[in-house]
Amino acid sequence: MRAAVFDSTSTVSGSWLSIEEVPCPQLAPDQILVKVLACGVCRTDLHIVERDLPPIQPRIIPGHQIVGEVVEGATSTLPLGTRVGVSWIGGVDGDCWFCRHDMENLCDHPVFTGYSVNGGYAEFAAVRAGFANPLPAGLDPIVAAPLLCAGVIGFRSLRVAGVERGERVGLYGFGSSASLAIRVLHSWNCEVYVVTRGESHRKAAQALGAHWVGDEDAMPPVPLDRAVTFAPSGKVVVSALSALRKGGVVAINAIHLDQVPAFDYDRLLWGERQIRSVANMTRQDARDFLALARDLNFRPAVQTFPLDQANRAVEAVKHETADGSSVIVI
Ligand SMILES: [Zn+2]
Ligand SMILES: [Zn+2]
Repeated sequence: MRAAVFDSTSTVSGSWLSIEEVPCPQLAPDQILVKVLACGVCRTDLHIVERDLPPIQPRIIPGHQIVGEVVEGATSTLPLGTRVGVSWIGGVDGDCWFCRHDMENLCDHPVFTGYSVNGGYAEFAAVRAGFANPLPAGLDPIVAAPLLCAGVIGFRSLRVAGVERGERVGLYGFGSSASLAIRVLHSWNCEVYVVTRGESHRKAAQALGAHWVGDEDAMPPVPLDRAVTFAPSGKVVVSALSALRKGGVVAINAIHLDQVPAFDYDRLLWGERQIRSVANMTRQDARDFLALARDLNFRPAVQTFPLDQANRAVEAVKHETADGSSVIVI
């Protein structure tokens, strides 16, 4: 099969992924084989190929927003031909302290799709059956792909921030995750305040009905109940913290962050304000979000790339040049 492979031992500069013919995956007993139809490109994929995240495997096929069809290893709940979505959480051990306490996103022995095991920048992917989410048959694979990470993790961020209906919520950064989170917030009757650099992102936020939009140095006009930061920048976390009311929460939606600058505890954190990180996702997050996305008829903007142009697709995420989410169509 054809696949885009990241070789962490390669010193060739200029392109992260090589398009190769590789053997089709052999299934373990708990796995199904998925024929990939589309795979979304996430900022985490960029962190993997740029080695911000330390390589786990010398060679890996990235991609953790996989939409495909079951072609082998069918089960009673996933018969042949079932349309499934596979996300970052590709497996857990099921018996560590965190799994036993309903926090599988923090499992001590997780499997991460497209990072610790091969992902979806390929014609086929072997995935654990219990981690494949059935998708409505009619859902366009290209539209569904960005929902599986950008969408689910954005949704989890709102949960971690403790957002309640009708609250004032700040979104710091406005890429694909935030553009899906704002739709969820509107369905909860929240007022959304967007702080982001880049005119195109500010326009996108306005077009999606943000209550107020400002550039990266702007301060929202009212204290916020909650904020979610999407940029991999510690400075943005401090900006968000400075906009909170007492008892407010900042949730950091970033797997990698540069240094957080020193800040004034007395003024910014005292008053029971909280900073929380958002790590991975649970299967329940994915199920709940996909059901909501179906009910609200989410149709994120996407830009598509063929597998041969996987490097361009990642480049578009790096420079945020894609018109919407980048999706590789197989
Ligand atoms: Zn992701
Ligand atoms: Zn576990």
